[in-house]
Amino acid sequence: MVVRDRDQWMAVVGIPLDTPAGVKTLRIQDASGAERQQTFTVRGKHYREEWLTVKNKRMVHPNQQDRERIDKERGRIANALAHWTAAVVVEESFLVPVDGRFTSPFGLRRFFNRQPRRPHSGLDIAAPIGTPVRAPAPGRVVETGHFFFNGKTVFLEHGQGLVTMYCHLERIDVEIDQQVERGELIGTVGMTGRVTGPHLHWSVGLNRTMVDPLLFLPADKVAGAPVSTPANKESDERAAAMKGKGPVPHVNVEKDGSR
Ligand SMILES: [Zn+2]
Repeated sequence: MVVRDRDQWMAVVGIPLDTPAGVKTLRIQDASGAERQQTFTVRGKHYREEWLTVKNKRMVHPNQQDRERIDKERGRIANALAHWTAAVVVEESFLVPVDGRFTSPFGLRRFFNRQPRRPHSGLDIAAPIGTPVRAPAPGRVVETGHFFFNGKTVFLEHGQGLVTMYCHLERIDVEIDQQVERGELIGTVGMTGRVTGPHLHWSVGLNRTMVDPLLFLPADKVAGAPVSTPANKESDERAAAMKGKGPVPHVNVEKDGSR
């Protein structure tokens, strides 16, 4: 994604969460085809753990039929994230899509019923069922569906491969190819898919890579949001649980986690 920064253009690139820390090289090709290289450093970051208990065991151990469905859906999700539309101006300061409390942040290392699963790829916002979910910026609906883990889901593309995803909806109020304005209703908060309570799971994809949605919110909306920092108590509890002793730690599990 390229954004204008006063008198110059700035390229913004999403870097996958599992990228090892270290010095990386970027190859830059300009319009004439000339290439140059630029090095940059990816620093390590600690992400907290979250332990959740999901009552529906199939959501943690899907059966054969479920796994086939999940495989197909993974393809649809990848295709939705791969949408790229040329747009000169991309709105990179978003509205918060739902009124609610930020609960699980991006990057949490997740355990469902003690089983390690992929890190949390978005931001969870807890809100009652039926709360309106609004487009954070102008965009186009590129995919909708009812997915095994994500439940009822809407994907919006905002230009230049910036794609946002809204999961666990109760209701979807838009159709594929529909253009939406900033603030327009796209659905309502629900608890479809793998959830422990009603909330919106909101993901932001940039060049097919999930990045932290907080990066796209104005600073005053981010203040007080959950942060990923080490907590000794958690690691001690985790160590005990891994040895099969002590209670299974539940971190941040009020009625809001999942996905
Ligand atoms: Zn989530």
